Amino acid sequence: MARRALTPWDDETPLDVPISAIEHFSYCPRQCALIHMEQTFEENVYTIRGQLAHQRVDGGDSENRPGVSVRRGLPLWSERLGLRGRADVVEFAAGEQPFPVEYKVGRRRPPHADLQLCAQALCLEEMLETVVPAGAIYSHAERRRHILRFTDELRSQTMTMIGEIRTQLRQQLLPPAVDDARCPPCSLVHDCLPQVSAHPARLRGLQGALFRPLEAIDDDA
Ligand code: SF4
Repeated sequence: MARRALTPWDDETPLDVPISAIEHFSYCPRQCALIHMEQTFEENVYTIRGQLAHQRVDGGDSENRPGVSVRRGLPLWSERLGLRGRADVVEFAAGEQPFPVEYKVGRRRPPHADLQLCAQALCLEEMLETVVPAGAIYSHAERRRHILRFTDELRSQTMTMIGEIRTQLRQQLLPPAVDDARCPPCSLVHDCLPQVSAHPARLRGLQGALFRPLEAIDDDA
């Protein structure tokens, strides 16, 4: 099917951005590049907890409750924005607008999941030719829903980030490591090695040591 390039950052052959990349990029652009460009993935306690929490929604079992149809694992896309992905849950209540719900194992940490959920709303609006004014992030850790309104500002931030991710993917850009508070809980910390990769002088020293004869290293000791 012919695709239209309607966004200012998308004047070449469109490249679909995975909706999941938005949360990764928001958390750390390097994490996004490692996952979506280099297909790096590691499990840690947080990813395993997340998988367990998502088992039901990933199963795609939908149900009808009184007055509301609950769709799980709903495929999403936007031709206009070049987006594709899946919604954990979308609720369709009688006489109301579609209501996407994103499940998170930990506490809500704005703006990462907020941007991801907003991207889901933008897809739903295009797919269903409707308006999606609000959604929710369900935190398993907090056992509560955070209602999120899709303001003009949040929509603008989300579309800007989609453009930045598309540029990163298209140009195969691997940003430098940050080595800050984001790194210890990051599942990619052992692939990224921020304690070395974020420090050029340390990295150069270790690279040099790799090619020094063992005797020279022993002499230095
Ligand atoms: S370890 Fe740190 S710099 Fe590396 S991807 Fe994770 S958050 Fe980003």
